[in-house]
Amino acid sequence: MTMSDDNGVVHVAMLPSAGMGHLTPFLRLATFFLSHNIKVTLITPRPTLSLSESQLLSRFHSSFPQVDQINFKVESSLFTQSPNSHMPIPYFQMIDHIRTSAAKALSPLLSSLSPPLSFFVSDYFMLSSVLPITQSISLPNYLLFTASASFFALYSYFSTLPSSLSELEAVEIQGVPPIPISSIPPDLVAPNSIFKKVFIEDSSQVTKVDGIFINTFEALEHEVLEAVNAGKVLTAMPPVLPFGPFVPCEFEKEGDQWIKPLKWLDDQPRGSVVFANFGTHTEFGWDQIREIADGLVKSGSRFLLVVKDGKYFNGDDKNEEVGLEEVLGHELVDKVRDKGLVMKEWVYQSGILSHEAIGGFLSHCGWNSIVEAAWNGVPIFGWPQRGDQKMNAEVVKMSGWGTWNKNWGWIGERLVTGEEIGDAIKVLMNNESFKIRASKIKEAARKGRSVGGDCEMTIIRDIVSDFSDE
Ligand code: UDP
Ligand code: UDP
Repeated sequence: MTMSDDNGVVHVAMLPSAGMGHLTPFLRLATFFLSHNIKVTLITPRPTLSLSESQLLSRFHSSFPQVDQINFKVESSLFTQSPNSHMPIPYFQMIDHIRTSAAKALSPLLSSLSPPLSFFVSDYFMLSSVLPITQSISLPNYLLFTASASFFALYSYFSTLPSSLSELEAVEIQGVPPIPISSIPPDLVAPNSIFKKVFIEDSSQVTKVDGIFINTFEALEHEVLEAVNAGKVLTAMPPVLPFGPFVPCEFEKEGDQWIKPLKWLDDQPRGSVVFANFGTHTEFGWDQIREIADGLVKSGSRFLLVVKDGKYFNGDDKNEEVGLEEVLGHELVDKVRDKGLVMKEWVYQSGILSHEAIGGFLSHCGWNSIVEAAWNGVPIFGWPQRGDQKMNAEVVKMSGWGTWNKNWGWIGERLVTGEEIGDAIKVLMNNESFKIRASKIKEAARKGRSVGGDCEMTIIRDIVSDFSDE
């Protein structure tokens, strides 16, 4: 099998699905390939789910004009239904439509690219649409799993589980700590969700890929990585390559808006600020936002709070124009302004986490957020909201650089009070052992990423040399 063309060019095509949590790691991995002289073609579904994604893509393409970009049209009525409504586009319905559209678009495309492709990297939500096509042209197909290795263990094992999980206490997978049903994404426990359908379709195909890249690293998920690679989860498991931590890139900064919080942080003492941010699609109600603000004030710490309180997933990423005072009330707003900064727009999270004034992170535990905090050695108090986030919070707890409160429930299950949030932040900001463990995790993260580090060696050994030698 020839993996590079006559001139020794290694060429990869990459296909992310939808959402910033998927696109960001794809672009970071693409940047990594580029730095190893691999030619990259990026294939993306259009329109994107959010404006943030299309903006990130244009910044990426301006920074790397050598990357070939191919867009394919997502055929979906979701974009035209009630165009004036502020309702978010249902994420997994969109994924389902992307899968169908990708299968149609890729079939004629992949074999016609020049120079010929050496390998393909698909999103884990796209696997069963893409695999028949790559198999038909004998193109090696790697999976980029944008969540944790722990969630990967569940994903790859999922099709062997009984169809109804609700009767189980926990999912037991050999070599992996038991996963309580209460920590499993509710859509996987529910009988008929689209997410579950996608998960089962793809899970059963996982042994057919050539390898799986995961944005994680040994020090973060040693036990699970060992179990998956020792064949304990699935006997025929392809190599699982811990490629993380994916590092933030220059092109991710948008305009000038990332500067304001960093300037504010410059005036705060080292390690004094708790950063509260909940990812790209957590929308709290106003009552919960008030409790968060109250909790931050009660904690006694300084804070940087990001709230996304309104329409966020309607294609223009603009929040409702509601004043902070209207949401918090006069008295609370004064206290908030005294100790904190509240941002209502997209912030450059990686930049904030790397600022020395940050001492802790109140996070929804999206996997990218966790890896970014690990990269910067910032302890986490987890407030998982949905999906894989409780499992991610548990990864942090198990590796000793943070904790979470199981009683807070999934998003909307109950109002978490200011009292509880204030107490949680006190725990976070005053726990010396979290700080020590977090700096150890940071050290390990940087070691893996350095030139000649674990991650660099993996790519050279397993990917680049393989393909250029044959
Ligand atoms: N992010 C950011 N600014 C924001 C919100 C999110 O830069 O205001 C970035 C964050 O750094 C991360 C990604 O968006 O890279 C969110 O991914 P994650 O997996 O943490 O959560 P999701 O949004 O997918 O739930
Ligand atoms: N996800 C996403 N955008 C969304 C919803 C989900 O990227 O709007 C991702 C999320 O980061 C996680 C996975 O999809 O990796 C599982 O989603 P979840 O179970 O939260 O779906 P839900 O329960 O909200 O339907």
